[in-house]
Amino acid sequence: MNTEYFSTGYEQARCRFLTAARAAGARIECFPIDSTHENSLSLDVAVIGGESNRALIVTSGVHGVEGFFGSAVQLAILDKQAGMANDADIKVVLIHAVNPYGFARLRRFNEDNVDLNRNFMLNSENYSGAPDGYHQLNRFLNPSSPPGFELFRLKALWNIWRYGMGALKESVAAGQYEYPEGIFYGGAKPCQSTALIQNNIEAWVGQTEKILHLDIHTGLGPYSTFKLLLSDSADSKNYRWFVDTFGESVVESLVSGATAYPVHGHFGSWMRNRFKQRDFRFAGVEFGTYDVIRVLGAIRAENRAYHYAQPGSGIADKAGQELLECFCPSDSKWRNSVLAAALDLVEHGRIAL
Ligand SMILES: [Zn+2]
Repeated sequence: MNTEYFSTGYEQARCRFLTAARAAGARIECFPIDSTHENSLSLDVAVIGGESNRALIVTSGVHGVEGFFGSAVQLAILDKQAGMANDADIKVVLIHAVNPYGFARLRRFNEDNVDLNRNFMLNSENYSGAPDGYHQLNRFLNPSSPPGFELFRLKALWNIWRYGMGALKESVAAGQYEYPEGIFYGGAKPCQSTALIQNNIEAWVGQTEKILHLDIHTGLGPYSTFKLLLSDSADSKNYRWFVDTFGESVVESLVSGATAYPVHGHFGSWMRNRFKQRDFRFAGVEFGTYDVIRVLGAIRAENRAYHYAQPGSGIADKAGQELLECFCPSDSKWRNSVLAAALDLVEHGRIAL
């Protein structure tokens, strides 16, 4: 059963990942992350296979709590890999728990309250500013109090009616650099995880010419469905390759803004720029859970609890559990079907690469 690959917490997920990586004959590297968390945290990397002209990169937990699913995908890949003779023709690079703090604390954000997918700046970008809409919505998004009873759904619907869903998504979630305690904060400099990846990615990937990078996410899109989100425009060669490999219905350009929205400091845009001399392809793979208002409500409540409630209190625990449910539903049907879909994607990608 696919549900067996899901772990009950970060420590268990990490331990299983390292054990499975050893069994698969991977080269393993562990990078400690400094934080106030009581347990030791680490970004772990498993590299399977030697030099090759093709590489598949799979990353999990850029958004902390989303690692429950991403880690399950990586564990399943390792399990399959252990049963096969090493496919010398392809190198597999698995980066586990890019944001281990958020994974362990049931947060989307990291030890600096940063959304890592807004932290990978290109040389031309800087860590400043916020969309106009964010300034207007800041008091609604980030109240300076612990979560309590309120008519959040109604308030959210009112704002959707006022600004329109597209404008709201973009102004709320595109990334902001002015409210360090707010949601979707992109930081003031590269975070520990960001710098680790930026400094080591070339060593992990090696000289490989053809690279496919799948960055696993959850919480966006209809329940139990998935989309490959590309930062390439719909008329690009890369976009065409994804459509030919995975089918038109599951591929979407971030530039189009139908499910998601262009963001600043995007991991994939940074990777694409770093490997622009090579045949590099990136997709953020989003697996849908609940409706956008419930998910936004959970992110907002958890952030309030994180800053204004006692850790370990009933309020904090409830907020953490709802966030976990929003990013990794406990429903075994969801878990079985999304994991099967993810493995299918990986297999298709591996063959087409
Ligand atoms: Zn995510």
